[in-house]
Amino acid sequence: MNFAESCAECRRLAEAYEAVTMGWFRVQGQLRIAAYSNDEVASDRIVEELTGIGRRREQLRLQAENHIATAHPRVACASSSL
Ligand SMILES: [Zn+2]
Repeated sequence: MNFAESCAECRRLAEAYEAVTMGWFRVQGQLRIAAYSNDEVASDRIVEELTGIGRRREQLRLQAENHIATAHPRVACASSSL
């Protein structure tokens, strides 16, 4: 994603996205541990959590795309090949 460094909203979205991504990896690690210990109850709970985080991440990505498209149309144009 092409965030504009000087834009507060971009910084906020980038930080939120990064935090959600970090959380996703952390929970993913918990899932691995639960799988190793054959803890099905924990696995189910963690999978649910991962689904929620994935949804939140997707929302943030859309929010960021919308923001970039409206606030920084030039940047959005340059990144359209991605
Ligand atoms: Zn911005």
